[in-house]
Amino acid sequence: MTRAIFLFVLLALLAFGAVWLADYPGTVNLTWAGYQIQTSIVVVAALALVFAVLVAFLYRFWLWLKRGPGRIGALFSARRREKGLEAISSGMVAIAAGDPVEARRQAVAAEKHLSGEPMTLLLAAQAAELNDDDRAAQIYYDRMIKREDTEFLGLRGLIQRARKEGDIGQARALAERADALRPGTDWVLKELYELALKARDWDKADSALGRLARGKAAKGEAVRRAKAVISYERALVALEHGNEEEGLSLALASHDLDRSFVPAAVLAVRLTSKLESPRKLQKLVIDTWKHAPHRDLAEAIRLTNSGEQPPDWFRRAQDTVAPHNKDHVETHLMLAKAALASSDWGAAREHLMKAGGETPPASIYHMLASLEEKANADAIAAREWILKSANAPQDPLWICNNCGRQQDKWSVHCPSCDSFDSFSWKAPDRGTQSLESIDVEVVEEIKAVQAD
Ligand SMILES: [Zn+2]
Repeated sequence: MTRAIFLFVLLALLAFGAVWLADYPGTVNLTWAGYQIQTSIVVVAALALVFAVLVAFLYRFWLWLKRGPGRIGALFSARRREKGLEAISSGMVAIAAGDPVEARRQAVAAEKHLSGEPMTLLLAAQAAELNDDDRAAQIYYDRMIKREDTEFLGLRGLIQRARKEGDIGQARALAERADALRPGTDWVLKELYELALKARDWDKADSALGRLARGKAAKGEAVRRAKAVISYERALVALEHGNEEEGLSLALASHDLDRSFVPAAVLAVRLTSKLESPRKLQKLVIDTWKHAPHRDLAEAIRLTNSGEQPPDWFRRAQDTVAPHNKDHVETHLMLAKAALASSDWGAAREHLMKAGGETPPASIYHMLASLEEKANADAIAAREWILKSANAPQDPLWICNNCGRQQDKWSVHCPSCDSFDSFSWKAPDRGTQSLESIDVEVVEEIKAVQAD
């Protein structure tokens, strides 16, 4: 708008000037180097105008020339940048698609056009990983951790590399460095926690888990359970160092965190009977039997009174333990065993039947067999129970939820797959044992009985 008005005013002035010149005609006489020029004032004015326009045009051209190289350079580098970014984006797509050849090709192109950029380094490192080129990946990550803007990302790559190579010490040192760089980052805390577990460094695992739980990354039951397990392991370490008081307080803390955690209940009972008053022990026995009834706990409770005769234990179990979880399978199993040891056959049979439920496990049949032998000296009846046990489900065990390993004792890490806290108390699947093969076993057993 302003430009249009300016142009209009300029044209008006020119027209006004031309009219004014026409109204006042005149001539110009110029004598120079022997030439004499005579012309009208209008021609001189027109020449002056043409000269001014020419000068303005030359000035513009000179400015353009002066800025030219920079402008051309900028245009060139923008093109390079575009090509580099294209290579990075294609490279990342190739990595996501798992195409190692294309990823490496694009990484080379990115390096050519956009050398030294953080994304170029990351692409190169990832492409090297995808090509299983450990040495190259290591070199790129090492370059990344030397730059401020890629240090954190580079550390992440190096931690994964160290873990892959099984160098837990190196991975932990790198994770500590990442934590110092950006304290409280979720993935760093998770690494610190998992690596501390792998290194069996329970104190560090506990503090990393505490920090994780303060953030939003980990909350609730799983954290309480993990804390309970770590507390239990710390109790074992304290006992190893001969510190029973500390062991007890850690075992009790573990039991408080997860009341169903059998190993902590067992340890707490064992240490309380050694270090605390009978009143405290009785309170704990009630509490543990309510929440963690288990054959190992029954045994620990029995042993709190060393030198106790079987009938005394049977009475104590009936009076002070069983009433606190009276219908549980483990309660009946505890009473059946105590009754068997005290030769109380009637009570033993009654509790064995109740402990077996609908599908008694093999151990119940074995105990029934031993009952027949001891109570009635009835070998035939005993054999019958043994035969039945062949078809019975297996007794529960500690089974690794990750790899299926079975063992009698709970352990914090699976000896087979090194999973943390992966054991559950449960009955194993009968698996692929065919009915036919069971029948063969039964026939063999019958033959054996008849031969007697
Ligand atoms: Zn396992």
